[in-house]
Amino acid sequence: MENIFLCGLDADEIADLIRAGGFTHAQAVIVAGLLYKKGIAALEKSTRIPQRLKSYLSEVSEAGMYLPVREERSADGTVKYLFESPEGKKFESVFIPDEKRKTVCVSTQSGCRMGCPFCVTGRYGFHGNLTAGEIVNQVISLQKNGKITHVVFMGMGEPMDNPGNVLKACRILTAEWGLAISPANITVSSVGITPAIMNFLERSDCNLALSLYSPFPDERIKVIPAEKAYPVKEIINMLSHFPLKKKRRMTMAYVMIRGINDTDRHLEELIKITRGTQIRINLLPFHAIPGDERIASSEERLQFFKHNLVVAGISASVRKSRGADISAACGLLASGLE
Ligand code: SF4
Repeated sequence: MENIFLCGLDADEIADLIRAGGFTHAQAVIVAGLLYKKGIAALEKSTRIPQRLKSYLSEVSEAGMYLPVREERSADGTVKYLFESPEGKKFESVFIPDEKRKTVCVSTQSGCRMGCPFCVTGRYGFHGNLTAGEIVNQVISLQKNGKITHVVFMGMGEPMDNPGNVLKACRILTAEWGLAISPANITVSSVGITPAIMNFLERSDCNLALSLYSPFPDERIKVIPAEKAYPVKEIINMLSHFPLKKKRRMTMAYVMIRGINDTDRHLEELIKITRGTQIRINLLPFHAIPGDERIASSEERLQFFKHNLVVAGISASVRKSRGADISAACGLLASGLE
C-alpha cells in the first residue's frame, strides 16, 4: 500500500488517518499545525507529539513536502523558484517582497491547457494538475523568506481548471489549524470558467481576479479562447449580483498593450461594462514574450486609464511590474522549461 501524503490533508482527514491507531482529533490538529504553521516535514523530530504517534505516522504516511530545486533572483528582490514533483511535474512559484508584505504567487498546474497565445505557460503545454498539497507546499517552502502574508494564485495554470485542489488549498491556507492566512489576503485568478467561479465564490471567502484582455468579445476570444464557452460579459453580470462579504474583493486584471487594447474606444467600453458593478480594475503593463512584437502601454497611458476609470466611479489601480528580468512576471512563467 502506498503511503499517504500528509501535506494536503485537512485536520479532519488527518484525524481519520490516525483514529485507527487510537489517536484523537486534538492530536490531528497538533500534527496539522506542525506541518502547515511550522513547516516541519520531519515530524519524528518534534517534541509536541508522542513517540507512539510519530511511529504510527511514519508507518502510514509521509510528509509530502519538498523544497524548490532552483531559484533565480531579480534585481527588485523578487525570487522565482522551480519545483519538481516526485513524478517529474515542473512548476514555478514567485516570492514577491514589498516592505512588510510577503507575497507568494503559486502555480496550480504544471503548464496550462487554456491555450492563451500571449502566455509562455500556455505555450509550454499541459503537464498535469497540482494537488492541494503541492499548491500549499509552495507557500510552506517559501516561508524560509519569512512569514508569508499574501498568496496569489496567478502562477502556472488556470486555477478554475483544477477547482477541487484549489478550493482545498484555500481551505488549508486560511484554516486556524492550517497557515491561518486571512482570506482577504488570498486572491485566485481566472480567465473565466463560469461554473467553477460560481462554485469557488460560494465555497470560499478568498478574493477573485478575472483576466479581461479586451472588453470587446471579438478581440478577447482571439487571446483568451475560454471566451467562446464563457463570455466575460455574462461572468461580469453574475459577479455584479453576487453578495460580497466585507473585505472580499473582485478584481479585473487588464493587461495593457500599446495600440492594441489601450485606445479611447477600449477605455469607453471598459467603463461601460464595469460601471455600477462591484468589480475593481487592476491595470498592468504587458510583458512581451519571445517572438511577440507587441509592447507595453506607456506608464502615462496606464495612469490615464486609471484616472478616467476613477472619475467614472470605478475603483482602479496600476500594478507595479515585478521580476520581469527573471521571467517571473505575469505570463512569463515556464520560460526555459522543457
Ligand atoms: S494566461 Fe493563464 S489561463 Fe491563459 S495559458 Fe497562461 S496560465 Fe493558462
